[in-house]
Amino acid sequence: MTLRIHDKIIYKTNVTCPGCGCIDTRVMKFEVVEQTYHCPSCQNVYAKKLGSCCIYCSYGSKNCPVIQDIQLKLNH
Ligand SMILES: [Zn+2]
Ligand SMILES: [Zn+2]
Repeated sequence: MTLRIHDKIIYKTNVTCPGCGCIDTRVMKFEVVEQTYHCPSCQNVYAKKLGSCCIYCSYGSKNCPVIQDIQLKLNH
C-alpha cells in the first residue's frame, strides 16, 4: 500500500514578506520544507516563525502541502 497525497492540496501560495510587505506568489513542493524565505523585493532572508513548520506556514496565505495533507486527512 502506498501513501497517497491528498488531491485537494493547494500548491500555490502568496507569501507576504515580513520585512517589506510585498507579496510573492510561489508554488510549493510537497517534498521541500522551506526554512528560510528570500524576498525578491528587499533581498533580505527571513527565517520561519518560531513554532511554525516552515516559511509558508509562517508567512504564506496557505499552509504548506504537508500540513494541508494532515488537515485534509483529519477531516475525513
Ligand atoms: Zn521584502
Ligand atoms: Zn509548513
